[in-house]
Amino acid sequence: MDLLLYALLLALAVWGFRKARGSFERVRSRRRRAGLPGATADNPLVLRSAQVLEDARASVRCECGGRVQELGEATRVGLRVARGRCVECEADVDLYFVLPHMLN
Ligand SMILES: [Zn+2]
Repeated sequence: MDLLLYALLLALAVWGFRKARGSFERVRSRRRRAGLPGATADNPLVLRSAQVLEDARASVRCECGGRVQELGEATRVGLRVARGRCVECEADVDLYFVLPHMLN
C-alpha cells in the first residue's frame, strides 16, 4: 500500500514539475518575443521594404513554438497590423509595423 502511495506522489511531483516548467517556458518565450520589433504596438517593426515584412512573417512563432498562419492585415492609429493565428494552439499572434513615412 505504501508503495502505491509513493508511486502516486512521485507521479504527482513529476506532473507538477512538468507543468511548472511549461509555464516558465511560456513566460520566457513571451518575454523574448516581446523584446523583438513588431511583437507589440509600442515597438513596431519599421518596414523599409516588402522583404522585411515577409522575413518577419516567416520567422514569427507563437509562444508555444507553433507556426503562425496569416489572416490578413488591419490598421490601427499610426500602425498596420499583420494578423496571424497559431496553427497549434489557435492563439492570436499579431505583428505590428509602420511604414517609414508614417513615423513623422
Ligand atoms: Zn501557439
